[in-house]
Amino acid sequence: AAMRHLPYFCRGEVVKGFGRGSKELGIPTANFSEQVVESFPSDISTGIYYGWACVGNGDVHKMVLSIGWNPFYKNIKKSVETHIIHTFKEDFYGEILSIVITGYIRPEKNFDSLEALISAIQEDIEEAKRQLDLPEHLKLKEDNFFHLPEGKIVNNH
Ligand code: ADP
Ligand code: MG
Repeated sequence: AAMRHLPYFCRGEVVKGFGRGSKELGIPTANFSEQVVESFPSDISTGIYYGWACVGNGDVHKMVLSIGWNPFYKNIKKSVETHIIHTFKEDFYGEILSIVITGYIRPEKNFDSLEALISAIQEDIEEAKRQLDLPEHLKLKEDNFFHLPEGKIVNNH
């Protein structure tokens, strides 16, 4: 069921999140606005996904993405957060983030400790890197979606 909507193309502005301290953990997550999240299929499974991401008209990088319940809205709305596997010189709040979600890793989980959470995320990142090198995922890195003018929203591609 998690795979039904994949590959999923999405483009939108990066907004301030709710300060869960992702950056302090070394894994900053670029949050999409509520409006972009609302445009996702309502039945898309929460959990950890991977794919490709590009900020503005910059390079396309590997990413891991979480679709989760948004604590700010008492867990009745979702949040969509992208960790790009690349070191950026500066934050990019307000910029347009383009992503294509190509695969699913696992459902959301609760962790007993911060260490357990961080090591799970490190494993997700390693899994994403491996999967994205496979031809069926790698080919989407070159998709025209990443070269279209930003006005063209290509959900349901
Ligand atoms: P917030 O709660 O505002 O989302 P985070 O701690 O999750 O704060 O940090 C996210 C911000 O960090 C992004 O909006 C972006 O501007 C910046 N950032 C820097 N490097 C990355 C990266 N590799 N992946 C995602 N966001 C990054
Ligand atoms: Mg974040």
